Amino acid sequence: MRRRGPSRTADYDVSVVGSGPNGLAAAVLFARAGLRVAVYEAATELGGGARTTELISPGVWHDVCSSAHPMGLASPFMRAFDLSAHGVTMLRPDAAYAHPVDGGRAGVAWNDLDRTVDGLGADGPRWRALLAPLVADWTDVVELAMADLRGPRGLTSTAAVRFGARVAYQSRSMRRTRSDESIAGDMLTGVNLHAAVPPQTLAGTAVGLVLATLAHAVGWPIPRGGSRTIVAALAQDILRHGGELFTDCRVDDVRDLPPSTAVVLNLTPAVIARTARPVLPAPYLRKLSRFRYGPGACKVDLLLSGPVPWLADGCDRAGTLHLVGGREAALAAARTVAAGAHPERPYVLLTQPGVVDDSRAPEGRHTLSAYCHVPLGSDVDVSEAVLDQIERFAPGFRDLVVARHVQTAATLARYNENFSGGDILSGALSLGQLVRRPRPGVAAFSTPVAGLYHCSAATPPGPGVHGMAGFHVARRVLRRHFGLTGDPLRLLRPAAPPEHDSAQPGR
Ligand SMILES: Cc1cc2nc3c(=O)[nH]c(=O)nc-3n(C[C@H](O)[C@H](O)[C@H](O)COP(=O)(O)OP(=O)(O)OC[C@H]3O[C@@H](n4cnc5c(N)ncnc54)[C@H](O)[C@@H]3O)c2cc1C
Repeated sequence: MRRRGPSRTADYDVSVVGSGPNGLAAAVLFARAGLRVAVYEAATELGGGARTTELISPGVWHDVCSSAHPMGLASPFMRAFDLSAHGVTMLRPDAAYAHPVDGGRAGVAWNDLDRTVDGLGADGPRWRALLAPLVADWTDVVELAMADLRGPRGLTSTAAVRFGARVAYQSRSMRRTRSDESIAGDMLTGVNLHAAVPPQTLAGTAVGLVLATLAHAVGWPIPRGGSRTIVAALAQDILRHGGELFTDCRVDDVRDLPPSTAVVLNLTPAVIARTARPVLPAPYLRKLSRFRYGPGACKVDLLLSGPVPWLADGCDRAGTLHLVGGREAALAAARTVAAGAHPERPYVLLTQPGVVDDSRAPEGRHTLSAYCHVPLGSDVDVSEAVLDQIERFAPGFRDLVVARHVQTAATLARYNENFSGGDILSGALSLGQLVRRPRPGVAAFSTPVAGLYHCSAATPPGPGVHGMAGFHVARRVLRRHFGLTGDPLRLLRPAAPPEHDSAQPGR
């Protein structure tokens, strides 16, 4: 698997460039369809934004990027693939997320909707009214959120109309309400900010409502052993079905790839423009250059000598925490980043896998991962501001810090070129770029070159470890080039007998 430059000797049905979750998902479907498929990964390890490594010291495992995986249980691809059948244990913290505010209080999104409603006091009934119908129909919500949204069909279904009405209502009420008094409002603001756009916008609200729904439907699980176990499951499946995986194998020019009927680039527009420049027409390259990136992120991983001493009840049971305080503080942090500056009190998105997974650190020790938004391309280490925010809601926390590892936005961009400028969502989630991803006027998945495709967080349905961009591109390639019509997920459902049982990752 360690080769410098793709093999030019082999012919493949499909070559996939990049081994992020979407590239691997596409390769799983190609391999299961009986095609000869090869995956080329620039890094020494597979997995893109879903790797787990000993970032700080041996025996202490941190997710380098993604860590909480609602879509690992919920996306149609992942449901059909069934991670648990492939040895991945998805651990569900009792609470998906918590949002502490000053004064020792927190809003807690328990997996159980009723418990959440009870804990929200006066806000409880509104929380139920907003989310209960979506939770009841969560598979429809997910179908909509994970669709390729290229046709009107996906946008006019009953679920879409119900979801759209809630997005419009919620977004309008967030724009009208200026009060900091509602803990439920703070919670929704925190969850909307995952989208890294102003939380009161339609796009921010849409992303937030999907995540808020999943919190009560499947939870926000954390895989035992880290995100890399998801990658390993996908990689093993590709190998078992005869696919080939090459790491340390950067593709600088698509013309260097071995002859293949189709090439799928698991790359975002800026990287596609570099890798396929010689074959792509100039007008298309100009359109790609108009793809907009969002803010960057600065990521801080910590080794602690004990669990975080959260002040507010429930925070110690949550896998993810949103640390910023009330809604006004969240909006102020977002405005500062949008203006190109680093907030003194940033919105911090933190995961504490130790709540459910004791395998991440030697006994007594705890791992913690956090990030906050910063201006695109920033090389500023903002870990002190991140630690201050944690200390604010967990006094005494700083005394527990044994070691830290910081990745600035610039570092993240070097780590994975798809995170241009450190934009971990691989492209701004503005309304236009969310609904018509990658952007209006640029086709998702296909390119003007016959047989050349792309799928990544920059195509529908957007960022996350769900494999659905890989599914959407695979469906097109299987139909157009190999005459395989119908739902490719059927390839996953019957446990197809492995064709190459002896294959091991790393060959
Ligand atoms: C800090 C951080 C936290 C996140 N948290 C979460 C989370 O909790 N939950 C969640 O669902 N998502 C999260 N995400 C987002 C998620 O990781 C990404 O959306 C997802 O990984 C995108 O997958 P992808 O298939 O598009 O490709 P990527 O994961 O971007 O992988 C692309 C791969 O292509 C390779 N590559 C690039 N150029 C070349 C080339 N020229 N030749 C060969 N290979 C190349 C790269 O090395 C990389 O391995 C997070 C991301 C970051 C950075």
